[in-house]
Amino acid sequence: MASIPQISAAARRLQGKVALITGGASGIGESAARLFSRHGAKVVIADIQDDLGQSVCKELSNPTSASFVHCNVTSEKDVENAINVAVAKYGKLDIMFNNAGIVGEAKPNILDNDKTEFEKILNVNVVGAFLGTKHAARVMIPAGNGSIITTASVCSTVGGVASHAYTSSKHAVVGLARNAAVELGKYGIRVNCVSPYLVATPLAKDFFRLDDDGASGVYSNLKGKVLNPEDVAEAALYLASEESKYVSGHNLLIDGGFTIVNPAFG
Ligand code: NAD
Repeated sequence: MASIPQISAAARRLQGKVALITGGASGIGESAARLFSRHGAKVVIADIQDDLGQSVCKELSNPTSASFVHCNVTSEKDVENAINVAVAKYGKLDIMFNNAGIVGEAKPNILDNDKTEFEKILNVNVVGAFLGTKHAARVMIPAGNGSIITTASVCSTVGGVASHAYTSSKHAVVGLARNAAVELGKYGIRVNCVSPYLVATPLAKDFFRLDDDGASGVYSNLKGKVLNPEDVAEAALYLASEESKYVSGHNLLIDGGFTIVNPAFG
């Protein structure tokens, strides 16, 4: 792996912060773990992929301030435990990144969609974000501070890109974030979403059969530019840091204009 330059102490935007990232073993969550650690955060990766999550932890800028905890976000016991681990190890929780998600099978025809698959996707994407938000709030309320971020998607804003279940789930997490932002603002807690367009991660490659660069055959309003997991991590870094101290209830689209452009004019 190419060596990544260190960030000087003065330029670190999360120095002394504690961040928990669900789905941090791969893709967007892994990029966020690497970036948050470079910016001085103590990072807890919570995922169901134990080996991968542990090896990402070892590769972070500050591996001695990084931990992995097995956590299935659909289990309240697991989520509660993951947050308790963060607080027990590092004394507090400043940043909760509800990022774990699944896309499921692509079945555009509603008649082909079955209830079990629908429930499975909503369970991971929506119930997972709900449990993460709830248990982060439990420890952030007494602290009077915190930033909760959920990875939604362009599917939070437009229909027809992915399955009925996935689109429903990503609309739902934005609603959850807005509700929580209203309620938790009085405790100094901000709640926001990041909403990427297609990112070349294992999730999207499987679903959309993307090439390695993620670009082939994919609509782009920004010609020649490809969205990488690191770009989404940078947006999450902004929402996690003090630079966004007055931003709450926001859904930050990282889509190169996809949701505002009429493809007929593209
Ligand atoms: P990914 O598959 O690379 O990473 C997802 C991670 O979530 C994996 O490490 C996986 O083990 C973990 N995970 C899955 N189910 C879990 C569970 N029940 N409990 C705990 N961890 C679980 O995919 P990604 O693209 O990095 O996805 C991250 C988020 O980004 C998801 O919420 C996804 O919906 C969203 N998203 C992805 C894209 C894209 O094009 N890749 C676009 C928009 C939004």
